[in-house]
Amino acid sequence: MALNRCAESLSEASVAVKKVLVLGKIHDSGIAMLRDTGETVVKELAEHSEDIFNELSDTDAIIVRMTKITREIIEAAPHLKIVARHGVGYEAVDITALSEFGVPLTITGDVNSVAVSEHTLALMLSLAKQTVVYDQAVRMGNFGIRDGFDSTELSAKTILLIGFGRIGKATAVRAQGFGMRVMVADPFVSRQNVEAEGYNYVTDFRYALEEADYVCIHVPKRPETENLISAEELKLMKESAYVINVSRGGIVNEAALFIALNEGWIAGAALDVFELEPPNLDNPLLKLKNIVVSPHCGAFTEECAQRMAMACAQAVVSAFEGNFDPQLVVNKETLPDKSARG
Ligand code: NAD
Repeated sequence: MALNRCAESLSEASVAVKKVLVLGKIHDSGIAMLRDTGETVVKELAEHSEDIFNELSDTDAIIVRMTKITREIIEAAPHLKIVARHGVGYEAVDITALSEFGVPLTITGDVNSVAVSEHTLALMLSLAKQTVVYDQAVRMGNFGIRDGFDSTELSAKTILLIGFGRIGKATAVRAQGFGMRVMVADPFVSRQNVEAEGYNYVTDFRYALEEADYVCIHVPKRPETENLISAEELKLMKESAYVINVSRGGIVNEAALFIALNEGWIAGAALDVFELEPPNLDNPLLKLKNIVVSPHCGAFTEECAQRMAMACAQAVVSAFEGNFDPQLVVNKETLPDKSARG
């Protein structure tokens, strides 16, 4: 049966200082917000730090970027009242164990869709306009590269969005602003909703691969989305097409992508995320010229980093008062009113 740590947090409301463990760098504004309450001590640890087990026995809240939150961590933190995920993906958190122990997991909600969708467009524009290639050519004295007429326009091209949640929707608006035809594949969103916003709905993304000039991944990483784009899918795409993954490594199979890029099945790719992060320097994808990469920074604009840090800090402060925004809680069964019934 689920333990009820939320109820515990309510009964402890009068106890003074609470400890917040912050795993990975977050914007200073979030740390300041926690400290300004005068009722928290903040301990910051580097991402994936092995010191974590020295800190857990008196930890009341964890703010986590990419560090894995395992059952062992949860078991070693008997006072834990909330895990606040700095972002929206939570595949690195053992949600089953958290729920068993009655600990709510919050996400930051719709605070990063602008940053990630702008990054998606930036990567698409890099590919279309050859900005990285041209930059390097000019620095090497090759001004004549411009006579290759290699750059292209986004206008009138077709973008296929796989996943039409917060970030997929924000990308759709921006792509449409560039005059693109927008196709949407998301089995959990109705055709009516997609068409009402002026986009084309496809029941299965595979049917649209041969039409798309840009295939953008905006789905969460789940067992069923791993290797969603692999050799079979890449073979269905046009030779002039591009694939862009700003969601999670492993949704596009890297080995298959390397073959596709190396053998010209598709024109290029852009990756903000990798199967292993950071990628090994001998990752063959990094040797190719028809790929643009970035360091999983889609959400890390200054503005968005601040919003995410503040959202995490707010979730923790509210949790210490026994309050949760149900919209941001992943495992709603742990919320005080519901868990009290169990
Ligand atoms: P969201 O939950 O709002 O949207 C995800 C959408 O994917 C949902 O509409 C869902 O119905 C759809 N979906 C699920 N499985 C699908 C499938 N098999 N085929 C098609 N659609 C499917 O999430 P979001 O806020 O839009 O974020 C999407 C993902 O982006 C996150 O899960 C995270 O992995 C990633 N992300 C990356 C960065 C970055 O810095 N690069 C930042 C934030 C989020």
